[in-house]
Amino acid sequence: MVGISQRMGLVFSTAIAALLLGVITQAIYGWVLFGFVMLFLVIHNTRHLMALEKWLLTSDHSSSSIPPGSGAWDTIFAHLARYVRAQTKNRQLMDLELKQLQNVTAAMPDGIVILDEADHIQWCDPVAEKHLGINLELDSGQQITNMVRQQSFVEYLAAHKFNKPLVLKQMRHHRLTLLIQLVPYSNKQRLLISRDITSYERIETMRRDFVANISHELRTPLTVVSGYLEMLSTEKNVDPEMQEIAVTAMREQTNRMQHLVEDLLTLSRLENALNKLNESSVDVASILRELYQEAESLSNGKHRIYLNITSEDKILGSREEIRSAMGNLITNAIRYTPEDGEIYIHWEVNEGKGIFYVRDTGAGIASQHIPRLTERFYRLDDSRSRDTGGTGLGLAIVKHVLNRHQARLKITSEVGKGSEFCIQFPEKRLIKKESP
Ligand code: ADP
Repeated sequence: MVGISQRMGLVFSTAIAALLLGVITQAIYGWVLFGFVMLFLVIHNTRHLMALEKWLLTSDHSSSSIPPGSGAWDTIFAHLARYVRAQTKNRQLMDLELKQLQNVTAAMPDGIVILDEADHIQWCDPVAEKHLGINLELDSGQQITNMVRQQSFVEYLAAHKFNKPLVLKQMRHHRLTLLIQLVPYSNKQRLLISRDITSYERIETMRRDFVANISHELRTPLTVVSGYLEMLSTEKNVDPEMQEIAVTAMREQTNRMQHLVEDLLTLSRLENALNKLNESSVDVASILRELYQEAESLSNGKHRIYLNITSEDKILGSREEIRSAMGNLITNAIRYTPEDGEIYIHWEVNEGKGIFYVRDTGAGIASQHIPRLTERFYRLDDSRSRDTGGTGLGLAIVKHVLNRHQARLKITSEVGKGSEFCIQFPEKRLIKKESP
């Protein structure tokens, strides 16, 4: 390609030659030629300058949109096109990197806010928008304490203690628990990182409650046993009747602790996802006939117990677990129904579902308690439950067994009239009795 200087040199040498010719020969042709050359130069350059300005003012700055040029402008435009191409490539690379960075931040579970030195929001990712109730479009430039007003947060920002995170509870928009961490960044800017620890907190609370509950459950029997042991070991001549009372009480309390430990082990086995369901064809009718006998002996003639079996269909599942769930419900019905009450045990297959229920004429349960009955250690009446040997874990065990069989527990109750605990097994678990 011929360079600009060569082209311009050519034009200027022509103009100077014309000028010299005019000066030396005093001939008019020289001046006219000089004038033409200059006029040509002015028109030529003005035309290209206008084309360049027009290109600069348009929005399309791609290399293909650069106007064609002639003479020295051809070289200038070619350089410009090369420059634009390089810039476009650079921008495309930067766009790609930015997109990747955005994808990475969007995939991160943590929220990120960039704050300036006066805690104004400069930028934040969508997770931080959700966590802190920020709308970046509207709130950019706003002080973050206008969005998050909790006193502990305001103090945390002011303290500049970057080594310690803050646990922030009960946000304005969602009932979230967040872990907030400030990180110094760039020149006086700060990164605020928010992490949702709601489920972690919930598990922690459950763990704490669980330990507190077990300690509470064990304290009473242990106090009774250690009290009687103290008495028997210190007093020399204990009355045989008193001795009998002490031994009976200690036996009862140790039985209670044993039941508690057994129920806890059962629960932990059921909760363990690695503990697969030991499936077989479970004969519900035969289980219920056994449980009916046990219920009669537990009730000891104090209740009228009815058994109604309308189907011999079986269930695909664990016999041991299904027996334990049904047994728990029947035992509860006896324990929470006063003398002379009635208890109905029922098994049927209806609309493709296996339905078991136990209905009693006991004290009933107020509706606000019903959703919480399957929580571990949830009781309506502590002393009644303990007096009748309850561990507070029976319905929690039932719930876990049913979950493992994709079955549902439906509790209906009316205070003063009685309760019904109904299990619905899904169709896929039913094994139809073959016709003879
Ligand atoms: P517990 O060992 O205390 O019986 P459960 O988990 O089996 O524990 O039951 C939880 C609570 O639900 C009981 O303490 C009792 O208050 C209530 N409950 C369970 N079954 C019945 C029932 N048939 N009638 C009335 N209340 C019941």
